[in-house]
Parts: sequence; structure tokens; C-alpha cells
Amino acid sequence: MLLQYAERLKLLGTETAFAVLDRITSFPPERQHHIISFALGEPDFNTPDHIKRAAISSINANRTHYTPSGGILPLRESIAEFITESKHLKVNAQNIVVFPAAKLVIGLAILTCTNPGDEVIYPNPGYPIYESMIKTFGCKAVPAPLLERNQFNYDTNTLRDLITTKTRMIVLNTPNNPTGSVLNNQNLEAIADMALEHDLWILSDEIYSNIIFDNQKFHSIAELPGMQERTIILDGFSKFFAMTGWRLGFSVTNPQLATTFARWATNLISCTATFIQDAGIVAMQEPKEESLAMVREFQARRDLIHKLLNEIDGISAVKPRGAFYIFANVTKACQNLGLKDSIEFQDYILDKADVAILSRTYFGARPPDENDHFVRFSYCISREQIIEGLARIKQAVENP
Ligand code: PLP
Repeated sequence: MLLQYAERLKLLGTETAFAVLDRITSFPPERQHHIISFALGEPDFNTPDHIKRAAISSINANRTHYTPSGGILPLRESIAEFITESKHLKVNAQNIVVFPAAKLVIGLAILTCTNPGDEVIYPNPGYPIYESMIKTFGCKAVPAPLLERNQFNYDTNTLRDLITTKTRMIVLNTPNNPTGSVLNNQNLEAIADMALEHDLWILSDEIYSNIIFDNQKFHSIAELPGMQERTIILDGFSKFFAMTGWRLGFSVTNPQLATTFARWATNLISCTATFIQDAGIVAMQEPKEESLAMVREFQARRDLIHKLLNEIDGISAVKPRGAFYIFANVTKACQNLGLKDSIEFQDYILDKADVAILSRTYFGARPPDENDHFVRFSYCISREQIIEGLARIKQAVENP
């Protein structure tokens, strides 16, 4: 008997960055120990103690049963309050649905707001799960280039040209993984105009919106007139509260869509773990000193790595404005070293310097007119390791 699998599986992508980690784990233990890794996209900080204590108390109080699918009311209320403060949006619990991963919102937004054959525009370079979900759910994935010369913002004319009668949704990610760019007001306003003119949904991935530097104020496209109703905000606890392993995220949408998302939750997961939701309330309500200190440390590291990268012959990098990534242009270094592209550069740096970085190709295929080569550094390691890692790269690039 030949078991049949769904055709759509051929379109299901992955976060191939894990391939680099697999390579590292295949090294002998001493070598693994010597590797400095700029590959992983999660804070190196631990979850603040008061949040951990809240989860433990909740388990001890036997808060271990099902909850309503969309999340418990006190958590949805505290998220709504936090969003109202931090994103200048008027929302209440009816706008919020809690999930055991911000990531789920990507797939659910596409499943709920598109039909097979519709077109969805998404950032390139960008988080690889957008393209995977868009294609798997039968839509056409339309990459929109983020350009180095625009500080990794869009050229709005190029973006406008990508819209057809079949376009149903634009995915935004600000601050962006992998470039650390924050969409400027001109970009946000132009995209809002396009959405209103063509009646489009916006999926706004704001998972890094609280990791933002230089005293900027974060702006969501949902703040713009007429946009809140058509914007699906994806956000969560993973990054700002250093809670990646807890799996706690949420969506902010219009109330009707929130009801549908809660129904998806009923169908797929029943609900998010009760004690983790309880800990989420404490994260939202208590002072956020530790998270703010973490953001200050990320900013100091951003300054450091930006300076050190630009001091290497053949490497340059735009200064990121948020998240914890920097996207370095290594075109000249590749030429100097006789390397074909960013994959060869990534492998060369791993082999020669024992430093792990990620090639641009993990974040979407290069458009044909992109001539430069880029690699992503995640600076979720100490300043000492950043200094050591960059010294090794400098040596490998300048004195091969
Ligand atoms: N969106 C972006 C841009 C991310 O980089 C990530 C995680 O790395 C996610 C969403 C997923 O977040 P979570 O782990 O909270 O589901």
C-alpha cells in the first residue's frame, strides 16, 4: 500500500537557520565550545524571576485546567491596557486573542483572510515562515524588497507596482528580522493608502516592537486613520520578556476577527496553558525594569557591533533601529576572498574563524536585481563575545 500525503506539503517551508545549528552540533565538543554564535534569534537573558514565580504559584494553586479558547479575561484585559499605552491604539479585551505562540497568528491570518489563488505580499529579506504559510495555504507569495539604500525600508513605488486585483494582504514586520529596520512614517502612510485604496488586509508582525532604540516611539500602521479594522497585529511575550520557551503570544484585531481566531483556537488547541497565561498577567502588569534594562543592553551591543563591523575591510552595515539583528553587506569581502556568495561567506567564517552567522538566503530568495551579498548577525551574546567574534572575523577577512 502506498500512503498518500497532501500535495500542499511540498510547499511547507522551514526555518533553515536550524541547519547551521545542526552543523555546529556535529562538531567535536571542544570545537563546539570554541564557536561564537551570532545565529540564534532569542534573547540570551532569562525570564524575570517575578514572572517565573507567578507560573509556579499558579501551578501550585492547581490552575491546571482548560480556559476559554481566546484566553482568560484578566490576561486579555492586561494585554489590551499594555497595547493601548505602548501602541497608542484604543483596544479592549474583545480585540485580543491569546495563543501558545505569536507565530500561530501568521498562519491563522492567512487562513482566515485569503482564498487559494489570492496574492499576499511579504517582506524580502524577511522571516521565512511568511512565505511558507502563504504558499502552503494556496496563495501566491509575492516578495517585496526591503532595500539597503532605504535603510531597509520599502521603495513605495515598487511596492505599489506589486499590487494586482488578486492582492488580498500585505505582511509587514517592524522592527524587522533580519535587518533590524523600523518602517518609517512615510512607508507606513503609503502602505496604509494602498490598503485603503485596494481594500487589503495588513498582517503587522510587531513581535519586536518593544525592542526599539534611540528613544524612538514605535508606530503601528494600525494607528493610522481607517487602519485598525483591517490590521491584524501579531505580538507576544517571547522577545521583550525573554520568554521564548514559554510559548505565549497574541493577536490584536477587530472584534469580529477576534471571535473567528478564538474559534480557530477551539478547533486547534482548545486553549493556551492556564498557568502560563497567569504568568502573562504578571508580566504585563508588573514594572518592566528587567525588560527595559535588556533593551538598553541590546542598544549598547548594537552600537558596538555596528562600529566593529564597519571597521572590517570589505564589510559595511546600516545601523539597525530595533530588534537584535544587524544585516551586514559583505559584497566586497566576498570579492576580496574569492567567495561566490553569502552562503560561501557564512561557511568560510564558520570554518576559518569558528564564528556562526546566517546567510541572507535563509530569509528569502535574492531578487534577480539584488547584486549585493548580506549576512545576518544576531547579537544575543555578551559584549565580550561580540568583541572576540568580530576580531576573529576581521582576521579571517583581512588576513586570509
Ligand atoms: N515573527 C518574527 C519576525 C520572529 O522573528 C519570530 C521569532 O523569531 C516570530 C514571529 C515568532 O515568535 P514566537 O516565538 O513568539 O511565536
